[in-house]
Amino acid sequence: MKNEADGALGRDIARSVNDVYAALPVRLKPEIRPNGTLEWTILAGFVMEDEHTLKCVAAGVGMKCLPESRLPLQGDMLHDTHAEILARRAFTKWLLLQLQLSEVEEGSTSSSTSNGISPYLCIRDSKYTFRENVKVHLYVSALPCGDASMAYTADHQRSDDAAYYSAIPLLQGADVGVVARGRFDYTRLGALRTKPGRADAGSTISHSCSDKLTTYSLLGVQGGLLANIMHPVYIDTMVIGGVADNREKYSNECHRSLYQRLNGSVDLKDLQEYTFHQPRILFTDVPFYHAKEEVEGRAGGAGVQPATHCANYVAGDTPLEAELVIGGLKNGNFKRRGAQTYGCKYRSRLCKLDIMRHFLSLRCVQENFDTDASTTYRDLKHAETARTYRTLKTLIRTPPSAFADWIVSDTRLSMFDREGVSGGA
Ligand SMILES: [Zn+2]
Repeated sequence: MKNEADGALGRDIARSVNDVYAALPVRLKPEIRPNGTLEWTILAGFVMEDEHTLKCVAAGVGMKCLPESRLPLQGDMLHDTHAEILARRAFTKWLLLQLQLSEVEEGSTSSSTSNGISPYLCIRDSKYTFRENVKVHLYVSALPCGDASMAYTADHQRSDDAAYYSAIPLLQGADVGVVARGRFDYTRLGALRTKPGRADAGSTISHSCSDKLTTYSLLGVQGGLLANIMHPVYIDTMVIGGVADNREKYSNECHRSLYQRLNGSVDLKDLQEYTFHQPRILFTDVPFYHAKEEVEGRAGGAGVQPATHCANYVAGDTPLEAELVIGGLKNGNFKRRGAQTYGCKYRSRLCKLDIMRHFLSLRCVQENFDTDASTTYRDLKHAETARTYRTLKTLIRTPPSAFADWIVSDTRLSMFDREGVSGGA
């Protein structure tokens, strides 16, 4: 009975995200290239569950990542546009909208709602948290890149995919530690792996989705900024598509990779509400229209290619719930003028700068934080109210943690103010 109920939940979670995808504008989706080649991609989405409903509130589509050489000092581009990471940033944006909504309702004298806040949120010990019975689920249309998909990629000999799912040879050095950057070395289970970059653009320092998802089992998915005003938000269930055979084996791989790798690695004493949280992992048969195997079926033997377009969806955002992302920017790859910050016309609403600006616009932040024009993104992430989150993040990246070799990006990348002016140039 339990398995049947799990299967139905997995199916419903997967469907709610795929339904949102089906309704997205066509220009946000993979294309048919001029030479007739069909493109495929990956879809991920966050689904909220309460007593009555399942609702997809945030989604991401894509499989691209900026090389280290293009990471901006201004906080105005998206570094990592793999579906899972876009979905997580879109979820942060959705949380900001919910918090904003709560404040508007609290301030309205005509409001009769209890607590006056969103249907999902309440306040406990002076921070926001989800109400009891509210759960957060994550759907991904394929196994996450990196460690969790190594066995599957090796078994299926999809050499053209190996570059996406795994990485390039092992690179060792003072800066990068021993993080696998290789499509080789499938047998090195548990290794931290970076995302592959384009051959012509250089390598990335972004960790694979497997590595990032694993850290969420301790840190939650709310991110460092929101940790100032929210308790951690943990994923209850991960629903994964695209695995048709040998499910027991690949399920074991997911459990090993997506949370067990870090379990027991970090001393959680004195970390208050931050605890180890084991997600349930379910596989689903619900097909994703632009999954590689679906697109290959339609291509009838012709080759297929990964899509270059990425997109994100935030339920309830205005004027548009969906946004196209190319090369880390909204609607296209635009040249930067000197060191100037990209204007809001070019920035994705999910870039660090815009998430920071939204955070600073909240009344609870304006009333409780001592900020001024010189406050940087880094200052906010290092504020006293986010201390437990920061401490835990540091512990995860320090021996004896299994993730001690984590590549920490240059602090200059977070030293921009609310206008996107960098103090780290
Ligand atoms: Zn990925």
